[in-house]
Amino acid sequence: AVEREDYDPLSDALWSSGQPAPYMHLAGAFDAISQTKKRLKISRILLNMFRSLLVLSPESTVASVYLTIGTLGAEFSKMTLDIGASTVSQCISEVTGVSRQRLRQAYNDEGDLGDVAVLFKSAQTTLMPVKPLTISDVFAKLERLAKESGGGSSTRKKQIATDLIRASKGPETRYMVRTLVQCMRIGANRTSILQSLARASVFHHHREGNPTKERLDEAVDAFEKAYFLCPDIEEIVRELILKGAVESKLKPGIPVTPMLAKPSTGVENAVELMGEEEYICEYKFDGQRAQIHLEEGGKVSIFSRNLDDKTASFPDACAQLREALDPAVSSCVVDCEIVAVERSSQGYRLLSFQELSARPRGDAQKGSGDVALFVFDILHLDGNDTYALALSERHELLKRALPRRREGFVMLATSVAIPDDSNRVEATRSALLASLRAGCEGLMLKRLAKTYEPGRRSDQWIKLKKDYCEELQDSLDLVPIGAWWGNGRKAGWFSPFLMAAWDPEREEFQSVCRVMSGFSDEFYKKSREFFDQHLIDGPKGYYNTGEKPAVWFSPVETWEIRGADITVSPVHRAAFGKVHESRGLALRFPRFVRKRPDKTPEEATSSDQICEMFQAQTVKCSLRNQQR
Ligand code: ATP
Repeated sequence: AVEREDYDPLSDALWSSGQPAPYMHLAGAFDAISQTKKRLKISRILLNMFRSLLVLSPESTVASVYLTIGTLGAEFSKMTLDIGASTVSQCISEVTGVSRQRLRQAYNDEGDLGDVAVLFKSAQTTLMPVKPLTISDVFAKLERLAKESGGGSSTRKKQIATDLIRASKGPETRYMVRTLVQCMRIGANRTSILQSLARASVFHHHREGNPTKERLDEAVDAFEKAYFLCPDIEEIVRELILKGAVESKLKPGIPVTPMLAKPSTGVENAVELMGEEEYICEYKFDGQRAQIHLEEGGKVSIFSRNLDDKTASFPDACAQLREALDPAVSSCVVDCEIVAVERSSQGYRLLSFQELSARPRGDAQKGSGDVALFVFDILHLDGNDTYALALSERHELLKRALPRRREGFVMLATSVAIPDDSNRVEATRSALLASLRAGCEGLMLKRLAKTYEPGRRSDQWIKLKKDYCEELQDSLDLVPIGAWWGNGRKAGWFSPFLMAAWDPEREEFQSVCRVMSGFSDEFYKKSREFFDQHLIDGPKGYYNTGEKPAVWFSPVETWEIRGADITVSPVHRAAFGKVHESRGLALRFPRFVRKRPDKTPEEATSSDQICEMFQAQTVKCSLRNQQR
């Protein structure tokens, strides 16, 4: 993997056109990436890696993208290998003949099972020549491993993993093992990998000289837009190879990456953020985000905020939507909030998010655990994408698409128009108070003339929560990365926990606070059992903290944490260097609220968001002042 501008994929590749691409092509590039922290250099290595593939073995491109990200399929497919680190370690022991105990010792020194495998495999002398691994073959075997299920599957999984490790050479072993334990950590994230692929396709289709920077940036923008609308890498790569450009098209049945909102610090701030533009105040319901797809042919699917398929958990919601839809509608995608409700002869009452989460799977038929849908957007209707229309037009389409909506079952999200000539602050404040009285969390302020922006946290949508008048405007979603041992009643349990935010630029978890309130004894007990499975010997290279907890955890969960305010800290490292050159930001008086199974650790609150919250704190909270 070289990084020159004048790189020639034909003369520098490890193989020639028409032959299957060797896995060593990826392993060599990953090794080169791991040796640098420079973003530009990393993206050049990735660019060259993809350029060679597009020229010589375009059919290996999809597998290469997945192997580089460290997954086996599109984000929404959630295919996992389901083979633990201890099984992989047994495989290494079988291949190298080194005892498990020696492997464990080496792991304690090296901190990475891939490096350990390389160490012992390179000490071996092989007599038999091994056939080089190809990218397609590795990927096919991993897919087979993932699909193994039923009796004897763990033995079969282990055999496939052992064969793969045995067949790998030099750096291949390192990345094979890391792929198996699902921890690539080469220092390149999904976004940078996909951006490099988009740039490589421009080089591939550009015949004379090098393409301009503008052309490359345009390709990256188009790629991101297409990816957020339809995160189907196979489809996108096919278009890139054939045409060198991707068309932004939504596909009912494949989840769209949802649009997100920016926080505000209070009514005045929210109104100011709307500028001069016309907007509405929509109630912010306290439930679960649901994107519902109706495909031609009649299939209905529900996807979570995290692109998880939740259809099986909400058969009642699917049926309710079908009933509310105009029977003439052939396909559609709507965005809504599923809320737990209690129905009675007088109507319905909204219940809290906790009551929705506590609902047993598919319990709807028993008459308990009812849900209502509050629909707030439409992204596709009858074969046409509608996300790029203005919100006002989308709302008109929604009304027409759902003529048979019913109170307590399927409703349009309540919205209050804010007239141009009104006192906007007063009108918004009374909408907020009305939403709170109706049992909602607050408001979403939305500009009427704007489009739906998939995958973006956009300031076209501003959230205004009630909590801002009690404490910090918004909660943080943080990842437990370590803990201390509890005292007294809590002896034997973990308390406090060390919580971290995620910095996508530096690709590291940065500590924000220690949290020790808001937990039940039951929670402590379960956490001990759970985290015992996720203990690591020391902090990962991508943990950044001045704290020294007694135990360290792998980043496996995301928890919602509330706090009083954000301060500059000498030990915590969120947004390190952004507010103060040698200090980070910390959350004061943190309190656990709930787990966020719908967010992966990399979807935790980012250090930039914490920075924005810190800067926004100085803005006065008008509602609090008014209420005093
Ligand atoms: P984030 O901090 O990533 O925005 P979050 O998942 O913590 O997300 P919230 O801060 O609670 O979310 O706010 C956004 C969420 O509010 C949406 O994802 C959606 O589930 C919910 N929501 C409720 N009512 C509406 C509405 N009318 N319009 C848009 N979203 C709504």
